[in-house]
Amino acid sequence: MSAIAETLLDADEPDPVSFDNEAGRSAFFLACDHAGRAIPRRLDRLGLPEHETQRHIAWDIGIGAVGRQLSRLLDAAVVLQTYSRLVIDCNRDPEVPSSIPEISEMTEIPGNLGLTQVARTARIDAIFCPYHCTIAAALDRRAAAGRASVLVALHSFTPVFKGVARPWHVAVLYNRDTRLARPLFELLSAEDGLVVGDNAPYAVSDLTDYTVPVHGERRGLPHVEIEIRQDQIAEPSGQRDWAERLARLLPAAYAEFLRR
Ligand SMILES: [Zn+2]
Repeated sequence: MSAIAETLLDADEPDPVSFDNEAGRSAFFLACDHAGRAIPRRLDRLGLPEHETQRHIAWDIGIGAVGRQLSRLLDAAVVLQTYSRLVIDCNRDPEVPSSIPEISEMTEIPGNLGLTQVARTARIDAIFCPYHCTIAAALDRRAAAGRASVLVALHSFTPVFKGVARPWHVAVLYNRDTRLARPLFELLSAEDGLVVGDNAPYAVSDLTDYTVPVHGERRGLPHVEIEIRQDQIAEPSGQRDWAERLARLLPAAYAEFLRR
């Protein structure tokens, strides 16, 4: 399969993974699974018109900028995926059907219909594996060096989904382990004028997530998944505000985690 994986991305196309500030001294380790919206050239934009590849179905609008700024403010490592989740969703187990979606929200993805196993494997090998291997190897190195790691999975969600408006400005998501999510939820809820989702509009599960279950739960690392509503971080001023807010509240939540 490696020959096929090699041909999915041409040599001049971007690397699937950005890994910034690995040497950062913070315990926080940031991951942005849906930061990018690139599509490999040979997938011919998945048969979609350009505007469909620019809206929320293709990526988490604003979150890459928040992740990079948060990385600088916390002095934390950050890993970001370059390619669109419509190519392969890096926050899904590749075994679940939504890994390479045939429909996203209400848009059919022509380039994902009736894929062969060879075509699926090419996407896994070229995009999914390098991303998750980068995270796993970095967390292994930190553990070997005796460094603490606190995994923060950063996402953003559309203000309106299938015609329904969402009231939450931000959401704290978790599954089996609420040790960090709980204090972060309490701190965000204490902020002026914020409506905070408690596992809403999404919750972490093994079927709908990969990064937290695999890199957080299985390693027993403190972790949390954060979703910010996209209208909050579509522009640079909002991105800066949210990076500053999370740089203030995440260390406070972790301090509370260590106390409890
Ligand atoms: Zn996302």
